[in-house]
Amino acid sequence: MIKRIIDQKQIARLKQLLEHATKAVITCHISPDGDALGSSLALCRVLMNMGIDAKVITPDSVSANLQFLPGAKDIVDGNRYSDYARTLFCDADVVFCLDFNAPSRIDRLATALNASKSPKVLIDHHLDPADFTDVTISHPEMSSTCMLLFRVLCRLELFDLIDKTAAELILAGMMTDTGNFAYNASDPEIYIIVSELLKKGANKDMLYKRLFNTFSESSLRINGYALAEKMELFADEHAALTTLSREELNRFHYSKGDTEALVNRPLAIPEVVYSCFLREEDGYVKVSMRSVGDFPVDKLCSEYFGGGGHRNAAGGEYRGSLDQCAELFRSLLKRNRELYIDKSSTEI
Ligand code: 5GP
Ligand code: MN
Repeated sequence: MIKRIIDQKQIARLKQLLEHATKAVITCHISPDGDALGSSLALCRVLMNMGIDAKVITPDSVSANLQFLPGAKDIVDGNRYSDYARTLFCDADVVFCLDFNAPSRIDRLATALNASKSPKVLIDHHLDPADFTDVTISHPEMSSTCMLLFRVLCRLELFDLIDKTAAELILAGMMTDTGNFAYNASDPEIYIIVSELLKKGANKDMLYKRLFNTFSESSLRINGYALAEKMELFADEHAALTTLSREELNRFHYSKGDTEALVNRPLAIPEVVYSCFLREEDGYVKVSMRSVGDFPVDKLCSEYFGGGGHRNAAGGEYRGSLDQCAELFRSLLKRNRELYIDKSSTEI
């Protein structure tokens, strides 16, 4: 048995909403990862198994490496089909917001979400949820939204409606947000849930191959180039910075998702406590940070790079040039060392 952690009032309210629902919409954060998509598609699947007409709307397109997820082809790209997305939001009896904590995280889709009068339900594991939903199930101590969703479904007495496909989608998100159970994965209950998902037929080995060990040629080459030529190490500050400009991305035929795991790579060096990857986009710089131990990259991202996230995995967007953004990161190195590094908790 797993512990009951979700407030009964929220569960009762959600149950009530579902009793009367015939149409549901589910949305998740921009540039959706395996947890955002896994949780959205799994919930969609279970709702359809209940006889509810459910649709997933994403703020932008799904990256090529995640197109294999069952149901991904039926997702409505809210950026491309904004009028349709707006109609779906308004016509839904219930709107689910998964794996994000504030409307700003769904980019332009926020206008459609805010315009909708439908009751809204948040199921998420990011810190500090904004007050924009009627039912709020926020548990930052959960390593993935998928794991939280599994608990929500059990509390709604919908365990039996989690079929093999839904189980695989939930497992996909749990694996994504823990790096295949490499971090944030010490909670023994994770493995009780994994065991239930495997019993339902989820194919873990296939998911590992597709999520962690499938790369296009361009992806392999661009990551090789970035590590060999572009990774800067700051030994005294225990930091790494990797940047890729638009010109470099084009030269390697970059497509979305190709640099997804790059920011983690410098953390393999024992001296590196935090790693930053900057990718030049049109008009802004996408910032990604990862850390080990107590170093809070979410603070760094929210204070200086217009973003946020989790202590060990965060991101943001910087309005300015790639060089300016890299310079800002370098200028913070000394200060970060004094402010954040807790030497007792990181072996360096
Ligand atoms: P990634 O580096 O993979 O893009 O993002 C890692 C985590 O950081 C995400 O799961 C999300 O929680 C957070 N994150 C990434 N980009 C942003 C952003 O622009 N704003 C905020 N608030 N969080 C972000
Ligand atoms: Mn997540």
